[in-house]
Amino acid sequence: MRHSTFILSLLICFAGAVSAADDVLRIMLEEPVAGEIHGGVGNLRGWAVATDGIDKIEIMIDGEYAFDAPYGGARGDVGGAFPEVANASQSGFSLAYAYSNLSPGSHTITAVAHTLDGETQMSSATFETVRFKQSFISGANAVDLAATSCTVDGDEISASNALIGGDSYDMVLGWRTAEQGFEIIKIVEQNQAGNGSTDSDSGPVEGVAAWQPPANVEWIQYNFNLIDTFCDDPNGFCAGWLEEAPPECKINYRLGDSSQDTQTRLDYEYCLDSMVFRPYLSLDIERVTAPLTSSQKDIATRLIQAGWNQVAVKPVEFRVATDIPPAIVDASKEGMLAAIDVLGNYGPLRVYLVGNDLEVAESLANDFCEFNYPSEERAYCLTDQGEAIREMAYIYPGANGFQQSSWRLDSPVQSFVHNPYADENNQHDPVEQELIVDRKVNAHEYFHVYQGAHKIYFGSDDDSFGWRTTRWVEEGAAIYFEQLMSKRMDWESQRTLNSRVVNDLMAMKSFSARFPGISIRDVDTSEQTERLQAYCGTLCIGALQYEFGHIAFRYLENKTSSDKILYEYWDESTTLGWADAFDKVFGLSLTQFYAEFETFLMLSIEEQLSILGVEDDEP
Ligand SMILES: [Zn+2]
Repeated sequence: MRHSTFILSLLICFAGAVSAADDVLRIMLEEPVAGEIHGGVGNLRGWAVATDGIDKIEIMIDGEYAFDAPYGGARGDVGGAFPEVANASQSGFSLAYAYSNLSPGSHTITAVAHTLDGETQMSSATFETVRFKQSFISGANAVDLAATSCTVDGDEISASNALIGGDSYDMVLGWRTAEQGFEIIKIVEQNQAGNGSTDSDSGPVEGVAAWQPPANVEWIQYNFNLIDTFCDDPNGFCAGWLEEAPPECKINYRLGDSSQDTQTRLDYEYCLDSMVFRPYLSLDIERVTAPLTSSQKDIATRLIQAGWNQVAVKPVEFRVATDIPPAIVDASKEGMLAAIDVLGNYGPLRVYLVGNDLEVAESLANDFCEFNYPSEERAYCLTDQGEAIREMAYIYPGANGFQQSSWRLDSPVQSFVHNPYADENNQHDPVEQELIVDRKVNAHEYFHVYQGAHKIYFGSDDDSFGWRTTRWVEEGAAIYFEQLMSKRMDWESQRTLNSRVVNDLMAMKSFSARFPGISIRDVDTSEQTERLQAYCGTLCIGALQYEFGHIAFRYLENKTSSDKILYEYWDESTTLGWADAFDKVFGLSLTQFYAEFETFLMLSIEEQLSILGVEDDEP
C-alpha cells in the first residue's frame, strides 16, 4: 500500500513539473523511503533537475549537514519526464549509506538541491532505523545461520536464532520495492549470549599483496606506467570501471594529460565513485629535514622579536556582522575562548564573523585587508580574500571559514574569518545543532592559529622536507582538537563523538578498497602529492588529510597522550620541524609510524575501535 502511494506521488510530482512552463527546480529523495524501516548499509538516492543546472546535492541528517551526494547518474526516466531540462537524463544521485550508524528510532534525511544560480529546493524522508548491537559487523565468520529457523508470511521472512557478530537475534526481512530486494525491518536481540567460539575474527591479514579486484571490473585501456610505475600491471592498466559504472562515465571520463582530458575529469568528477584502482606503488622519499636557509633564519629572528610564538597580552578581538543572531555570536565566541583557554592566547588575533548582509560584509572585508596586508597590497586583498568574504555573505549557504597567518607584516598578525550556516533563504537559524557547529568550527580554526604561531621558519623551498607541515598532521590535529574540546566542554554526547570515529573508520575502509596502497605517507611532500593527484585526482587526497589524519591522532593519543599532541609536539616542531618533532615526542620515526598505522588499517573496525578505546555502544 505504502508503495503505491509513493509511486503516485512521484507521478504527481512529474506532472506538476512538466506543466510549469519555464524555470524547473525539482528534487526527489527516493531512498530512504518515508515511513519505512532502514538498517545496515543501504541506498541513499534520488534525482534533481533544474533549468539553471544543479551545482550540488547536500545531505542533511536530522537537520545537520552531513555530506554532499555525488550527482549526475543516469536517469532515463527523469529525462523522459523533463524533456525541456538539459541533462535531466543524468540527474540521479546515489550512494551507499550506513543506516546502522544512526541510533535505533526515528530519523529524518533531507536532500537539498542547489542550482548554479543559488536557488535551493529540498526533499525529506522520516523513517525508522533498526540495528544490531555493533554498527559494523565484519569478518569472514561474523554470521552463523547454522541454528537459524525461518518462517514466511506474505512478503516477509522471519528468521530466529541467527548468530551475528557473536550475538543471537530474531529478525524479520520485508520486501522493499525501492530497493528491489529484502531488507531487515525488525531486529530483536535474544537474551542468551551466543556461545560460539571467540576466535572467529582471526584469519589471514589482508595486505596489498593479497589484493583482489572486485568482480567484473572493466579495465581502462590507458597506460599509467609510461614515465613512472604507478601500479603492477604489464600493460599499465591501473584503473577500471566497476560493474555499476554509469555509461556516460565510460564514454566521457578520460584519463590522460591533455587539457581536454583534465576537463572531462573535472566535469565528471563523480565518476571516480564508480572506479577502482590497482594497488598504488608509493614514491619512496628520504624523510630528512632540510637544513635551514639564511632567509628562513632571518624570518624566524624577526618573528621571535615580534613575539610571534609567545603568548600575547592583547586579547582576541571580534569583528561581528550586526545581522548575525546573538546566540550564534555567543556560541562562536564561546568556542574560540574555550580553545584559547586550553592552548594559550596567541596573536594578535582578530576574528571576523561574517553574516549575510553584503554591506556589512564589505566593511568587514575592508577591516580584514587593512589588518592583514601592507598598504600597497590592500587593493589586491579586496579582490582576493575580500571577495571571498563578500561571497560568504551572498553565495554560500555558510558554515565555512578560513584562517590567515600574516607573518610577512612588520608587526605580524593572525586572523580567522567565519561565516555561520544559513538556510535556503540565506537566513541564520540559531538552533542548538547550529550552535554546536559554531563552537567546534571556532575551536578548530583557533588550532590553526596556534599551529601558525608555532611556525617561525617560514619561506622554505617547495621541495625541501620538514618545514611545511604535512596535510594530514595539520588537519588531523585540528579535527582531533575540535573533537576533544567538544568532549571536554560537553558540546556533544559521547555517542555522537563515538559515531564520528566509526564514520571515519568506515570511510577509510571504503577508501582503501577503492584506492588500495594509498595512505598518509603519500602526501608528505609536494612531489608526492602531485604524483598521487596524477594517479587518482584531488578527491582521493581529501580523505587522507581529514578522516585518515583524525584517526592517526586518535591512534597516537592512545599510544602516548593528548598533552603530547596538544602541547609538546607543537613546542618541539618550532625548532625541529614537523617530522623530527614527531620522532622526538611520539618516540618513533615517521617511517615506523606509517608502517604501524598500515597494520592498524587492515584490522576490522571492531578491532580498531577497541585499540582506540572507543566503545561503540556507550550511551
Ligand atoms: Zn582545518
